[in-house]
Amino acid sequence: MSVAQIVQSRPRPQAFTSIRRQLLRTRRILLLQLASRTSSPMVQETPADILDQASCERLCVLDELIQERTYAKLRQVEHALDRMLDASYGTCHRCRTNIPLPRLRAQPDTTLCVACQGDCEQRTLLRGGL
Ligand SMILES: [Zn+2]
Repeated sequence: MSVAQIVQSRPRPQAFTSIRRQLLRTRRILLLQLASRTSSPMVQETPADILDQASCERLCVLDELIQERTYAKLRQVEHALDRMLDASYGTCHRCRTNIPLPRLRAQPDTTLCVACQGDCEQRTLLRGGL
């Protein structure tokens, strides 16, 4: 089944086509970022003294953190692309309403509507405050 056929059976085909392009572009950028990180020669440099070693280790930790986030983002983008294929894209994961197009355009990998997202963030904040 071609992408065009899938998109045709959807209620918001035109908009989803451009959002899909946006997702694919984001995925390519993320993959390039990950590729440039893994080939970075920085890690192989021998630290001159302990101070350098400490800052190098900090840099490595930071580097891992950034890489982890890039991977997480990449997974989100790939899930969004998967959802486009199984026709669940654009529907809120929690309340099953249609997510408005402006929100999908601004955040193509979102799985929640504004109301549910706000609800989740509030819960996270409450958990973090305890
Ligand atoms: Zn919702």
